[in-house]
Amino acid sequence: MLSLRAMSADTSTNPLLVRNALPKFDAINPQHVGPAVASVLAAAEQRVAQLRQQQQVDFDWALQLEDVRQSISQVFSPIAHMSRVVSSSAMRDAYNDCLPKVTEFMTRLGQDPELLRGYEDLATQPTVAEDSTRAELVRHALRDLRLAGIGLPAAEQNEFRDIMQTLAKKEAAFEQNLMDATDAFSWHCERVEELEGLPESLIAAAAENAREQGTTGYHLKLDPPTYMAVMSHAATEKLREIFYAAWVTRASDQGPQAGQWDNTVLMEEILALRYRAARLLGFDNYAELSLATKMAQSSNAVLEFLEQLADRSHAIAQREFAELEQFAGRKLAAWDVAYYAEQMRQQTLGVDEEALRPYFPLEKVFSGLFRVAQNLFGIRFEQRTDVAGWHRDVRYYDLTDADGNAFGGMYLDLYARANKRGGAWMDECLIRQDIGGETIQPVAHLVCNFAAPSGSAPALLTHRDVVTLFHEFGHTLHHLLTEVDYPSLSGINGVPWDAVELPSQFFENFAWLPAVLSWLSEHYQTGESLPSTVLENLRASRNFHAGLQMVRQLELALFDFKLHADYDPAVGARIYAILEAVRASVGVVPAPAYNRFANSFGHVFGGGYAAGYYSYKWAEVLAADTFSAFEKAGPFDANTARRFREAILAKGGSRDILEGFVEFMGRAPALDALLSQQGMA
Ligand SMILES: [Zn+2]
Repeated sequence: MLSLRAMSADTSTNPLLVRNALPKFDAINPQHVGPAVASVLAAAEQRVAQLRQQQQVDFDWALQLEDVRQSISQVFSPIAHMSRVVSSSAMRDAYNDCLPKVTEFMTRLGQDPELLRGYEDLATQPTVAEDSTRAELVRHALRDLRLAGIGLPAAEQNEFRDIMQTLAKKEAAFEQNLMDATDAFSWHCERVEELEGLPESLIAAAAENAREQGTTGYHLKLDPPTYMAVMSHAATEKLREIFYAAWVTRASDQGPQAGQWDNTVLMEEILALRYRAARLLGFDNYAELSLATKMAQSSNAVLEFLEQLADRSHAIAQREFAELEQFAGRKLAAWDVAYYAEQMRQQTLGVDEEALRPYFPLEKVFSGLFRVAQNLFGIRFEQRTDVAGWHRDVRYYDLTDADGNAFGGMYLDLYARANKRGGAWMDECLIRQDIGGETIQPVAHLVCNFAAPSGSAPALLTHRDVVTLFHEFGHTLHHLLTEVDYPSLSGINGVPWDAVELPSQFFENFAWLPAVLSWLSEHYQTGESLPSTVLENLRASRNFHAGLQMVRQLELALFDFKLHADYDPAVGARIYAILEAVRASVGVVPAPAYNRFANSFGHVFGGGYAAGYYSYKWAEVLAADTFSAFEKAGPFDANTARRFREAILAKGGSRDILEGFVEFMGRAPALDALLSQQGMA
């Protein structure tokens, strides 16, 4: 069997070359990065060269390749992680230097015809074909090699490679135009009255921006938080309209910067290239290519799914919009909707996120979160003080089973600070692997950007923060509770894009349960838990304008999918014709004729979510559906939790996720749970 080889380099002096153990974050410096990456890539190169020449392949051959990838991941993961959370310019430079080298190696590995031959041979061997996890591993490897164009005749393979390179450049150019257009816009005023309704912090920042520009008054930019604050809070309609028009015309032929950084031609080219790439690989269109790695089985299944959701929510959204116009006492334009919705939400539900912070001190929230995990799965998180992190605020926890045995771990890095990327995410530190009797236990990074404690008060979270934490914790459990032995299928690896948000969105539901809210909340001064009227309003606010939010997401998802499924080279992309048709069928809020929203739809034209935007809703339906089983049996029913863990969390990418879903639910996914959860049954 396979033995894990130690790196040949001197691990005593380079902390990045320690294998199969927690990274030595307190010892890693930017100068370690270059030598460690060079060393691990050289060793990997040698091993791959041997494997390529191997005449007789068996499953051990595939495991060696798994281990090659794991060896690189173990060096690269701490570097990538530190470039995000303690992003000194030296660390960022070191990361940017080694990224192309690692990418180049991995791309070459993913396009190696010798490896294709090896996996093809393996696929027919009984020790693989008769073992479902091994068969799945080989199936994934073959699929990914073929999707990289390997196996095509030479001329087509070359054309495919050229297309993918051109496509990557055009997608990057789309993003760059969008960024430039966003950065170029600013708006100035002298009188603070014009900013009426905006949060104090934003007004202070606007004054600071003006000072930096060497002027008086207030200077607003077009970054997303500013845009959203203006749309939701600016009392002056004119200001809202100016920002709306600037936002929805970025990088287009319309609006205040018409014709500058215009993405229109790039969008046509991107869709044409995607279509051609899909045809070369033998698919009808790019939507079919996108689905080759997803849970959804066909374009029809996706379209039916989205259209059924639209059927069930459109009338509700129309009613919500009519009620909003009634509340406002007039017809509403696109730039009025968020503002009046916020006014209406405050008047009818009175939930002020900020005012609830004192009820959610961080330690209390964590004790509640861990209680949920323990009640569901009998697992505990035990803090260790002997594990060094990358910053003094970082904590490390052992994940232990009912008998106290550690079988994984989690780093927590919770507070916003300088040189740390914004947002919240879960990332893999170590990926579970059990090859040849040696086990690597999974370790996760859970990173948030909560407000740090200030003065004598502890760190206090909003309920939105709490939901974010539960979401990322769902990803964390998916990574940690895996029982798969092979890294390419373990945890979140190999899980299709449209299902990977199942555990995270599933877990969010617990942050809304009254019982769990009582575990999570305790006023840090008075010790009382959340008053019941506040709790009821908070729960009601979850579904405020659920219909309007649903149809907006469906509009984006249908537009994205039809763009790729209906592409016809004879007539071109017809981007705005398709958008108009989708709006006519599911839209509710009228859009002005100058709206060029698609020109800034980075999710789709920048890459990532092309013919995949539907994934958000798809996973949300799976999450709500599985959670309904817990509502039925009782949220902490041990048997339900055990079956969920075994069917979904433990399996990672080792089998078709639909199979796991059906094993757990006893049927295929249905829309009803999501609709009833959102008050639209
Ligand atoms: Zn997520």
